[in-house]
Amino acid sequence: MKRDDFPIFSKPVNGQDLVYLDSAATTQKPRVVIDAVRQIYEQSYANANRGAHTLAGNASRIVEQARAKVLRFLGAPRDFEVVFTRSTTEALNLVAHGIADEVDPGDEILLTIAEHHANLLPWQRLARTRGCTLGYLGIDDQGFFDPDELKRRIKPSTKALVMTHVSNVLGAIEPIEEMSRVAHAHGLMVVIDAAQSVPHLPIDLSTLNVDLLAFSAHKVYGPSGVGVLCGRKERLARLTPPLLGGGCVDDVTLEGMTLAPIPRRLEAGTLNLEGIAGLSAALDYVSGIGHEALRQHETELLRRLLDGLEGLGGIQVFGPRRVEQRSGLVSFLVDGVDPHDAAAVLDARGVALRAGQHCAQPLVERLSPQGATLRASVGVYNDVSDIDALIAGLRTVRQVFGA
Ligand code: PMP
Repeated sequence: MKRDDFPIFSKPVNGQDLVYLDSAATTQKPRVVIDAVRQIYEQSYANANRGAHTLAGNASRIVEQARAKVLRFLGAPRDFEVVFTRSTTEALNLVAHGIADEVDPGDEILLTIAEHHANLLPWQRLARTRGCTLGYLGIDDQGFFDPDELKRRIKPSTKALVMTHVSNVLGAIEPIEEMSRVAHAHGLMVVIDAAQSVPHLPIDLSTLNVDLLAFSAHKVYGPSGVGVLCGRKERLARLTPPLLGGGCVDDVTLEGMTLAPIPRRLEAGTLNLEGIAGLSAALDYVSGIGHEALRQHETELLRRLLDGLEGLGGIQVFGPRRVEQRSGLVSFLVDGVDPHDAAAVLDARGVALRAGQHCAQPLVERLSPQGATLRASVGVYNDVSDIDALIAGLRTVRQVFGA
């Protein structure tokens, strides 16, 4: 669809044309993003929100314009704000750490069994340090959360619902709106991990009805090292800052300090200006393609992939059966072949895809007898020839392992 926009595809990798089917791990970068990062270093580099000189002023403007762009991109209502972090992981840690003072022993936080470690381990630590409990919602045989289960599970002590929008293993588009409606009716805070949805689906925070959302720039064609925590201002303002230092304060004496308002109070230290500018360019790039075209393209690729896998036989596919209910990826097993061995054979043919637990060990160990899966994931640079190369590669895998 857009391969020519991505310089990485202009040169062979290991002597072969690159078939990149690992966008759920991280996306390749279009020239416009690379140029935006280079332009900062060559023409606009300074410390944002510090200093009075021209370059510093420009840097602050670049950050604030990017903040406004992220809010627009996410359809955020006026009472939302964006905090820049290093990643989804940092954003979710910020939330789990930031609410610690509001959590009492015996309180409960509901998660799901489909969470990435980034949205599991910070909550486990919170439970250990604050004496609260964690409850895990299940998934059905296609990977969906069930709002009725949520209704049954909420107790007076339940304080928050924390869930992924799209699992990086199942690819299921979860019923976030319904889940949030139930959670809010019981006064819960709702946090979503949108690392796998923001790159693929139009997000409209005015209807999603969540309090906090996290994603990473590097999965949406932007640079690594930048993440976003977008949330209701009053909710963000009550989070305890994870870091203290330059930029997060209005007033400092030898005895104490006054924290700045959000977002600055949650952004201590020098911001990643070049990364934020790159994220801004990446969101423009995605908006330029348009979510409808993006969705149509990925649905076509995923349908071809699912059909191809079915045609091979002896493949176990995880997640929704209907392609319309999937986003971005397909996890699967080749009967009788270790996923890591399969990935090595595919890599030798120039096909890059992920094998393993995908940082979601509890889920993958439930799903896969091998404790691992293969995962193919798509981006705007893929076309049907990539899918066909994977399917042909899987035939070779079968031959190599006599499976
Ligand atoms: N959540 C999900 C669903 C993910 O897929 C990932 C990345 N694999 C993360 C969180 C963590 O993202 P990052 O490494 O950019 O912090």
